[in-house]
Amino acid sequence: MARRYHVTTFGCQMNEHDSERMRGMLESLGYSEAAERSEADLILFNTCSIRESADQRFIAHLGEAKRLKAERPDRVVGVGGCWAQSVKDEVFERFPFVDVAFGPGQVGRLAEFLTQDSLSAQGYFEFEDVTGHLPMKRGREFQAWVQISQGCNCRCSYCIVPSTRGREISRGALELVDEVRSLAADGVREITLLGQNVNSYGRDLPREARTSFAELLRSLDGVRGIERIRYTSPHPKDMRSDVIAAHAECASVCEHIHLPLQSGSTRILKAMRRTYGRERYLDRVAQIRELLPDCALTTDVIVGFPGETEEDFAQTLTVVDEVGYDGAFTFVFSPRRGTEAATLGDQVPHAVKKERMARLVELVQARAKERAQRFVGRNVEVLVEGSSRHDASRLRGRSRHNKMVNFEGTAAAGEIIEVEVESASSMTLVGQERLLSRVG
Ligand code: SF4
Repeated sequence: MARRYHVTTFGCQMNEHDSERMRGMLESLGYSEAAERSEADLILFNTCSIRESADQRFIAHLGEAKRLKAERPDRVVGVGGCWAQSVKDEVFERFPFVDVAFGPGQVGRLAEFLTQDSLSAQGYFEFEDVTGHLPMKRGREFQAWVQISQGCNCRCSYCIVPSTRGREISRGALELVDEVRSLAADGVREITLLGQNVNSYGRDLPREARTSFAELLRSLDGVRGIERIRYTSPHPKDMRSDVIAAHAECASVCEHIHLPLQSGSTRILKAMRRTYGRERYLDRVAQIRELLPDCALTTDVIVGFPGETEEDFAQTLTVVDEVGYDGAFTFVFSPRRGTEAATLGDQVPHAVKKERMARLVELVQARAKERAQRFVGRNVEVLVEGSSRHDASRLRGRSRHNKMVNFEGTAAAGEIIEVEVESASSMTLVGQERLLSRVG
């Protein structure tokens, strides 16, 4: 009987993607997927290390793997991803029941490990390759992750990613167009381009193959069958006019831009090593709003970075109010071992962070709700994903502005339809399917 594997994924979309590659590779080796960890011969974790709390959550899961291994010593336990890379020198000493550990750039080496005669403890941590070259087992039928680059050359002082994913490695544009063509042939209608810093794509490619992010968007816009192109995560310093123009001119590039702010205070942005100040950020927003007035803008904000004063925080609130985001991911700063920011003095007391977070969330939601009212009474195009998570009598899907839409209708998953919006909250639009509105 085929050996069975089980993968648990923590963290970001890039990890979701890497786990799909891990599954594809294992199935190409003849493994099959087990529904439960306790049924597996090979127990794998694809880990995250963005915050210390993520580590704690993962280690609780690792405890169960230890128990299962004790029950059946022939089981293989493997740990991959950013946490594994961040503890590469101590993983086997701290967790002797782990058989194989590998960084994000070494998923492919898992196959080598599994096909060798004796499975003695082995670690693979070089930043050699991108997972995008491995076979893939997708978790979603009509949507797909497409890794365009791996790693990050930035040095944001609070971020562990450059040390766990290495420097930027871009995949060739021709290879990406081929991959997207085969995804379209497989019925995929929406792709999300992935990179730690997607809009610096292509700078590391050899001169003769150099392709900018905007050029890549235009190339992929031409792939028949792909109706929607999304991407994450861009850096404001690289959000240039050619990318904004590609949004305006390429039919499949969606009307949504995620533009992480992190802080509205230029002084704090400097301490974060974000390489842009408040004014430059607002310039980018103004350029986007001028060319794409209806484009949805979302962001990331960190509250309570070391040294953040009430005045700094007030500047963050002012930018959030001025921009009027369609949504935001908000984080309370927590020092991450191995980052510069964790060594900074003047840490903000937890109670102050919490109080500021509450004010920020209130403002973000109020502005997002106001912004969402522009969809009421309009027909929005929706890629149907299935039944609503909260009301089985309704369906759900996403608009091109990346808004979740719950609606009454009869459409099937994978169809692109029009929904007439009747009401809008900060997160969700509600409406009715417009009959005879199937799009393509
Ligand atoms: S751009 Fe900054 S925050 Fe984003 S992955 Fe790179 S170092 Fe981390």
